Amino acid sequence: MDTTRAETPEAAEKVGRDFIRDIIDEDLRTGKRTKVATRFPPEPNGYLHVGHAKSITLNFGIAQEYGGTCNLRFDDTNPTKEETEYVESIMEDVRWLGFEWTGLYYASDYYEKFYDYAIELISKGLAYVESLTAEEMREYRGTLTEPGKNSPYRDRSVEENLDLFKRMRAGEFEDGTHVLRAKIDMASPNLNMRDPALYRIRRAHHHRTGDAWCIYPMYDYAHPISDALEGITHSICTLEFEDHRPLYDWVLDNITIDCHPQQIEFARLNVGYMVTSKRKLLKLVTDRIVSGWDDPRMPTISGMRRRGYTPAAIRNFCTAVGTSKANGMVELGLLEHFVRDDLNKTAQRVMVVQRPLKVVLENYPEGQVEWFEAENNPEDPNAGTRKVPFSKVLYIERDDFMEVAPNKKYFRLAVGSEVRLKHAYYITCTEVLKDEAGDIVELRCTYDPESRGGGTPDGRVVRGTLHWVSAEHAVPTEIRLYETLFTEPTASDVETDLNPRSLEVLSEAKAEPSLKEAKAGDRFQFLRMGYYAMDPDSTGDRLVFNRTATLKDTWAKVGKQQ
Ligand code: ATP
Ligand code: MG
Repeated sequence: MDTTRAETPEAAEKVGRDFIRDIIDEDLRTGKRTKVATRFPPEPNGYLHVGHAKSITLNFGIAQEYGGTCNLRFDDTNPTKEETEYVESIMEDVRWLGFEWTGLYYASDYYEKFYDYAIELISKGLAYVESLTAEEMREYRGTLTEPGKNSPYRDRSVEENLDLFKRMRAGEFEDGTHVLRAKIDMASPNLNMRDPALYRIRRAHHHRTGDAWCIYPMYDYAHPISDALEGITHSICTLEFEDHRPLYDWVLDNITIDCHPQQIEFARLNVGYMVTSKRKLLKLVTDRIVSGWDDPRMPTISGMRRRGYTPAAIRNFCTAVGTSKANGMVELGLLEHFVRDDLNKTAQRVMVVQRPLKVVLENYPEGQVEWFEAENNPEDPNAGTRKVPFSKVLYIERDDFMEVAPNKKYFRLAVGSEVRLKHAYYITCTEVLKDEAGDIVELRCTYDPESRGGGTPDGRVVRGTLHWVSAEHAVPTEIRLYETLFTEPTASDVETDLNPRSLEVLSEAKAEPSLKEAKAGDRFQFLRMGYYAMDPDSTGDRLVFNRTATLKDTWAKVGKQQ
């Protein structure tokens, strides 16, 4: 972890320093570079996740800070796993995070150029057509401790290689029968430099180029060229590419191209309980363990969006965790901290009862309705107010009642005790009604008309304040509560590590009527309960909310919040 890591959004905004920015400062100071051009290069083989958010915040953030550019480039050189659906979701997610790309590119736009550069390498005697089988190639490659040996095809003439490579493109050979390899050094201590493959034959339909090609370039060959063609100055990637950097540089040193970006590696972002392997995320989707890529339990950007996380919270988190060379694991709690921090400032307060218990106010006039003025957000003076209806029959939270108060610190409702109803009156419980099974079905209470607005003439102190909803005006609501998908911070096996309680559905919830106006994606603080976002499954007469996060330390805050 970076030692400059910040713990709060305010500090996070100030951090913004790391070894990559130091390199850029130095490059600008010495004149090695006169501008800053970055790119975010996802492979469109899945939805973006929290790790990509880190890369996006870093690349786009640097471009913004230095008045430079940042491209969005789809690294679509692997035809079999890529789909247009992913391309579209990626664009949506980058924009939702608050960034706009300078140029939109696809590596597949450069296929013709990649081919021409391959011809150049062959012509210079720097690439050759390999005809060993994949298994033989593995044998020839050697190991970490033993050098590889040269293939018998390594010394083919330039003419023969040119002829074979053109025929590879023309579709004369079966898949897997030949590959184009760079001619570098079979004895290199870096295995990536032992004549790495540049092209393979693969008859596969590509989401953009269709069946135009049956040979596809390898990532390590296509990536540096794509960067250079776009004039990228700093090609930022994750640490696993460190050993590939010599190959990145070799490709650019040996072709005729006038830009040579600097590859800089940083440690991947790992967050506890958040799986960031696209393969594993895809499995969760295809095995129907989650409802889709945007299931609110998923660590995808679309999942976090549906859950109610805000772009600012995710960006602040990505900045706060810093950028370093050391692999580590960040606690999920830190991300939630930034989510709460942002929602506390921005989310409208409303009253929703999750597990309703009916309350009848015996001395409240039948048929009377009062509309109380309620503050929308005490943290935001501009948020205004709304009207909340009050009547004889109400719902309160089941958890806010116990027949007998367990101790003196119990400030919620019990028989004979008095509480304040937020925005309304003091009530006292007089009687409990139970069904045949002995379960509490209804409370009888009295209200004190003098306590309207929160106090009484005799100055009685009431310690507990409860939220409530008027039964007559309540909107039927479903609430989805989430926990982590996996049981341990680093667990990811869908067979053994799934948390069976990752989703709980409360189908009897009651919401105040103002929520009928809410739209999917709107975020709220349900007083005393937490932060919630309206789900697109909502309909006009049945609302659905996802719990984004609990209020930190709910119990401790009960008194303070009001
Ligand atoms: P996977 O291997 O699961 O398919 P990937 O890392 O290969 O994921 P890409 O689409 O190639 O996914 O990633 C696009 C960019 O995002 C790359 O530059 C990559 O380094 C970066 N990136 C991916 N995961 C993380 C992460 N966890 N932390 C930081 N950056 C990441
Ligand atoms: Mg990748």
